[in-house]
Amino acid sequence: MHGYDLLVVGSANADLVIGLDRRPGPGETVLGSDLVIHPGGKGANQAAAAARLGARTTLLARVGADAYGRMLAEAQRAAGAALSGLLIGAAKTPGTVAKDGTGGAEEGKDAPPTGVALITVDAAGDNSIVVSPGANGRLTPDDVAAAHDLFAAAAVVSLQLEIPLETVTAAAQAAAEHGARLVLNPSPPARLPEDVLALCDPLVVNEHEARLLLDGQSPGAGPEEWATALLALGPRSVVVTLGAEGALVAGPAVGAEVTDGIGMARVPSPRVRAVDTTGAGDAFTGALGWRLGRGDGLEEAVRYAVRVGALAVTRPGAQESYPSAEEVGTAGQ
Ligand code: ATP
Repeated sequence: MHGYDLLVVGSANADLVIGLDRRPGPGETVLGSDLVIHPGGKGANQAAAAARLGARTTLLARVGADAYGRMLAEAQRAAGAALSGLLIGAAKTPGTVAKDGTGGAEEGKDAPPTGVALITVDAAGDNSIVVSPGANGRLTPDDVAAAHDLFAAAAVVSLQLEIPLETVTAAAQAAAEHGARLVLNPSPPARLPEDVLALCDPLVVNEHEARLLLDGQSPGAGPEEWATALLALGPRSVVVTLGAEGALVAGPAVGAEVTDGIGMARVPSPRVRAVDTTGAGDAFTGALGWRLGRGDGLEEAVRYAVRVGALAVTRPGAQESYPSAEEVGTAGQ
């Protein structure tokens, strides 16, 4: 029995959102709406989504010893995640918050601020985003090594790419050393080392990420062709998310066999009225990691995750939109 169904290793950001009629040009100032601040970052979103569903989960991430760092820690706690993985300020060992529950961070004059995403949304609903990685960029392979107890306790480790690639690589290797299953979403999209790709079970991509990873390989028009070409890069299994269409899952013991023990299945999403798709992919991947950690097969876990993703788009925001297990239980039925 693992102590954690899911260990998420990744980013935590404060999302600072301002609505405006049109973006300023160089040297220009425009007035916008009131500032709204949300907890965000792919890692924090995934851990919050899983925790909200009832997962025993924690987030290995670094935040600043500042107000945004406290907001992010509080959002994790409120969702039900353990704070044992959170590194605050210049802390060298995770769990600085968890011991007394109050956030007694080790500060230092070189301690980085919490990562921030400055988001403007114009009248047409289009986003422009500037990310300052801050503390996320200081999550190091040493931090991964110091967190070996968390890796040893985790059934599944989930990674994305909003932290340094060398840290992603170290975390993938730590997962393998401790026998944890690895879920990886290459977002923002970047090429991955072959040895990391080979550990992914599954590699989770949307259409955009699939195209980027397959650049130059002309895999054909549809998700089945992308999945086949992605499997050729080495992961043990692949999930392609397809927005309102749900997802395609490909790997051993999945759906109808296509070749060499590898099968594929399309998993439709429940039909919903989409209000805001922000963070839907993170809700999907957090839910998927949790269900795999509980022992579901890949296809079964994807069938659950599409329902979580669909519910997340029916409400505004990212973490604020994530459903509880009770809501998922009745969704689409
Ligand atoms: P995002 O970047 O917006 O967080 P993504 O591009 O990584 O998301 P998507 O494929 O858009 O990922 O969505 C992930 C999952 O969320 C889908 O597999 C599906 O289950 C659900 N989903 C997203 N959009 C819709 C929608 N319009 N209707 C129903 N389900 C949706």
